[in-house]
Amino acid sequence: MPNESLDRFAKSKLDKLIAHGLRRSIVDTHRIDAVNIRRNGRDLVSFCCNDYLGLTHHPAVKAASAAAVEKFGAGAGASRLITGNHDLYTELEVKLARLKGTEAACVFGSGYMANSGILPALAGPDDLIVIDELGHASMHMGARASRARIETFAHNDPDDLAEVLCRARCDAGTCLVVTEGVFSMDGDRAPLPGLAAVAEQHEAWLMVDDAHGFGILGDGRGSVFDFEPPPSIPLQMGTLSKAAGVYGAFLCASTPVVELMKNRARSLVYTTGLPPSVVAGAIVAVDLIASDTERRARPMSHAHTFCDTVGLAPPQSPIVPVIVGDEAAALDASSALEEAGFLVTPIRPPTVPAGTSRLRITFTADHSDEQVEGLANALKRLLSQEMIARPAVKG
Ligand SMILES: *Cc1c(COP(=O)(O)O)cnc(C)c1O
Repeated sequence: MPNESLDRFAKSKLDKLIAHGLRRSIVDTHRIDAVNIRRNGRDLVSFCCNDYLGLTHHPAVKAASAAAVEKFGAGAGASRLITGNHDLYTELEVKLARLKGTEAACVFGSGYMANSGILPALAGPDDLIVIDELGHASMHMGARASRARIETFAHNDPDDLAEVLCRARCDAGTCLVVTEGVFSMDGDRAPLPGLAAVAEQHEAWLMVDDAHGFGILGDGRGSVFDFEPPPSIPLQMGTLSKAAGVYGAFLCASTPVVELMKNRARSLVYTTGLPPSVVAGAIVAVDLIASDTERRARPMSHAHTFCDTVGLAPPQSPIVPVIVGDEAAALDASSALEEAGFLVTPIRPPTVPAGTSRLRITFTADHSDEQVEGLANALKRLLSQEMIARPAVKG
């Protein structure tokens, strides 16, 4: 039975979103393979999946998942601490730790759940958490759940981090610094060696969320390994839902830290284990990430070709943002690309700061050179028709 005041509340919230051009709706999408999708009866080439390596549809990943359903059933049946810890978990955690060169690894249900659980397991009301100002919503979720004091530092700025730590560190107990390896909406990389040095100086623990670097950068091992020598970062989180093409997430860290997570991270303790099929798929995906050099190189190579063709600054990752500014302009640009057969969804506030609505273009190993050139030419047409402001590009 409908509740009038509840519905009025929901409607007034939605009306505000509509007034600001921010109402979103979820559209059914049939992903035929890693790049071709069907939506609203139209076939489109997608440039907005995070499936960087095309592993969601890789035959070996699919076969491992299907076999695990047959062998272990469709679901885990309970939390990992009860009976949901099927033996695929250990295999995956050993592989992840080996790939990352850490003592141990801990698999979570998703990246959002990992960040929601890791931070409160390491910080409490007397502690301090400092987050890059462009940090993902899930980091803020975890920080808030910890009830620690929360500060932000200027995006990718180790000097500002040092200032914030000088100002706020004094009376805090433990201190965590949290950033992303590759920023999800901007595609730029964090200066991890600089941040690690500042964190160490202030006796803070650095955590990097490498949702978008894992599988691509540093020979697939992630952003940290793109630096020579790799900085020492005690908390390396990543997801299995993006380049790895499946679902779930991990924290690679020392044995005591991982043991603490398995005891105290509420988003691990109080939730059902991942379906065995998901973990089995992830095991094969991690193997492919470690071994398939050619596949790993393709997303970056496409991003370079694209930026060259359009006249954008060289990309730092397979994520290329084209900042449009206004929400309506981002919607219009996205519709125009859709008319040309390309799906590039607009990204709007609150996902990105107001006035920086954008097209977020992601390249995957399975895109063809022709598809990448086709999108570049379509975007160039929009630029020449001034549907996108010139300042977004170089020259
Ligand atoms: C996608 C993403 C997450 C969430 O990961 P899921 O596995 O999709 O829940 C967390 N952090 C960052 C930076 C992300 O981009």
